[in-house]
Amino acid sequence: MERQEHKRKIAILGSTGSIGRQALEVIGEHRDLFEVELLVANSNYELLARQAVEFDANNAVICDPALYDKAASLLSGSNVKLFSGTDSACSLANGEDIDIVLAAMSGFSGLRPVLSAIRAGNAIALANKEILVAAGALVTEEAFKHSVPLIPVDSEHSAIFQCLQGVPCPEIAELLITASGGPFREYTVEEMSRVTPEEALRHPKWKMGKKVTIDSATMMNKGFEVMEAHWFFRTPPHKINILVHPESIIHSMVRFEDGAVLAQLGLPDMRIPIQYALTYPRRRPLKGTYMDFTEIGKLTFQAPDLERFPAIGIAYRALEKGGNTGCIMSGADEVAVDAFLNGKIGFNDIAGIIGETVENITYIKSPGLEDILETDRLSREYALKIIARHGHTH
Ligand code: NDP
Ligand code: MG
Repeated sequence: MERQEHKRKIAILGSTGSIGRQALEVIGEHRDLFEVELLVANSNYELLARQAVEFDANNAVICDPALYDKAASLLSGSNVKLFSGTDSACSLANGEDIDIVLAAMSGFSGLRPVLSAIRAGNAIALANKEILVAAGALVTEEAFKHSVPLIPVDSEHSAIFQCLQGVPCPEIAELLITASGGPFREYTVEEMSRVTPEEALRHPKWKMGKKVTIDSATMMNKGFEVMEAHWFFRTPPHKINILVHPESIIHSMVRFEDGAVLAQLGLPDMRIPIQYALTYPRRRPLKGTYMDFTEIGKLTFQAPDLERFPAIGIAYRALEKGGNTGCIMSGADEVAVDAFLNGKIGFNDIAGIIGETVENITYIKSPGLEDILETDRLSREYALKIIARHGHTH
């Protein structure tokens, strides 16, 4: 007979987002396995309040303090304790009652709450890749110091993590990060210069938040994932390669020294890696995830085109350079994606702005947290200046 395990207490940073909502779907299917301790959102107070009541969360945080009263009125009469501000998210993520913190905020904003959770020794299921892009050395060092497991949620890294289970001393020759290629896989540079935010937001395989969807279209996301893989698996950049695989069935692969290749396959459904991170090392049933190979028929592969997607090269060079370079990229990318979504710049300008910002912000070899926060601020400021200049010339 199976031993009865205690329910895992989960905190979700970014519960109202694409990953957060799917995580709650998974938790809803397995109420016997999980309890919701904490939910954090930025501004979507209505959904946050509904989720907190439905999942009987102990605590909820609305990061935008201006929305506290609205959220509070929706939660009056419930058992949910409501807080506001990022500092509250940091101190609650630090709670001793939590078993796993799902980091699913988007962008750099998740860094402080995640560091706080790590310092309390809470395991991290990490979707928020920008944290590793911007502060990989710092985050992994802290995790090591506090013996905190960092479990990947991003589908590619979950795939690699799964392939490495039970491998005592992995003699990895190469990590193969698969990529759908995004909506503009076959566009020319000229065609890409004219795409609209609506077109870029139409991802062929995954339904995700806006930022990561635009990053997928520029393939900055794949560049970030190479950096993420470096930090998760301690693999040098020259052993991490991108393979375009439009069907998105193989979620990534590991080639070993002896030539054997292990892959993880499945439908493109984020609930699978989310659930695996939350139930690890166990596997549990999940509705709607059965894949029929005869329906898929064939799988195809192509090399990535570094000329049409310059963001990939920027990421490799940033990884080689190290220091605060990833942080500069991540800050500039957030600002550039936002400007593209608001119609201020063209699609092809995004990579250019990131590249130019990387060249102009002072390099710091071994940045501490303060250096990282300052680099992020300066990079955003610099990227905004470039964007303002665009406004004058267009
Ligand atoms: P969404 O934009 O859908 O959701 C982001 C979540 O974070 C929301 O809950 C949002 O709250 C919250 N949030 C955003 N900014 C802040 C802030 N400043 N303070 C507090 N909370 C904030 O993003 P996704 O769910 O798509 O992505 C989340 C992370 O996971 C990203 O790093 C992404 O790269 C990564 N990822 C996502 C995948 C996906 O399939 N979606 C796949 C692999 C990785 P509110 O709703 O109130 O704004
Ligand atoms: Mg991914």
